[in-house]
Amino acid sequence: MIPNTYPIETKAPDITPYRQGNTGVDYVTTLDSGRAGPHVLVVAVTHGNEICGAITLDFLLRDNVQPTRGKLTLAFSNHAAYHNFDPDNPNDSRQVEEDINRVWDEDDLNGDRDTPDIRRARELRPIVEQADFMLDIHSMFFPIAPLIIAGPTHRSREMARDIGFPADVISDCGHKQGRRMRDYGAFADPDSSKTAILVECGQHWAAACASVSTETTVRFLQQLDVVDADWAKAQLPAEPPAPQKFIKVTEAVTIKTEQFKFVEPYQGFEIIAKSGTVIAHDGDEPVVTPYDDCVLVMPTHRLFAGRSAVRLGHYTEPPTR
Ligand SMILES: [Zn+2]
Repeated sequence: MIPNTYPIETKAPDITPYRQGNTGVDYVTTLDSGRAGPHVLVVAVTHGNEICGAITLDFLLRDNVQPTRGKLTLAFSNHAAYHNFDPDNPNDSRQVEEDINRVWDEDDLNGDRDTPDIRRARELRPIVEQADFMLDIHSMFFPIAPLIIAGPTHRSREMARDIGFPADVISDCGHKQGRRMRDYGAFADPDSSKTAILVECGQHWAAACASVSTETTVRFLQQLDVVDADWAKAQLPAEPPAPQKFIKVTEAVTIKTEQFKFVEPYQGFEIIAKSGTVIAHDGDEPVVTPYDDCVLVMPTHRLFAGRSAVRLGHYTEPPTR
């Protein structure tokens, strides 16, 4: 059990009315405008304890959102993990047996490993393959500013810029532990036009986290011009979003031993001024920053060998228009 120190300000909605859907895959619903246009996919609860995305999809489905062109698919990813959510022990429902967001390599998907999570990924695979644009909604353990994980491609950084929210945009290449859904297949192909972004909306159970999730989703749909413009505008705050900052991740610190310990209780976005500063010890080995003004990106509290302990990056220019 991972102790929880943060208040649970949101309530996990009942998603069982959405089990049936209309795609042949449980908890996946496709809304078809009947008109030409892109297939847009919004995914919630890739991690079962990240309930903000469920709140957003529940809102969209209750509000009877309809695409004005193309198709809009709304998917509750790891619904089995989500249904294990326990407010008294909220960190343990991230997954059933393994992280569904580290299994999107062809070898894993085509292999014979059999857990509830990878079985669900295999169910979702054709849904992900149909999508031209994908937003994957997440939240975080630490109460830091929300951020977009734009991944490795230039077009994803451009999409994050065009959505304009939230303010911090991270470009990265994922984790050694396994491929993320947002990097599956054509989404990571530099020659494809399929584009995915992932949003981390804030602390898992903060009320603001659900607002960020819904605002990001509405801006994503608005930017793709697949929903009614007046409807979108009515969902959004009147004031424009804060200016964006772009961070390029250059490397991940992958944990080697079971004795990994940070020297400070980092939460993320700390800027370490001097190259060579010790930020952690992995067993006897010091972990040092590789350059000046190094930004710590999403340090984890799950310090197990093979995982990324933290990503290291630096501020960079936004993609030019
Ligand atoms: Zn997550």
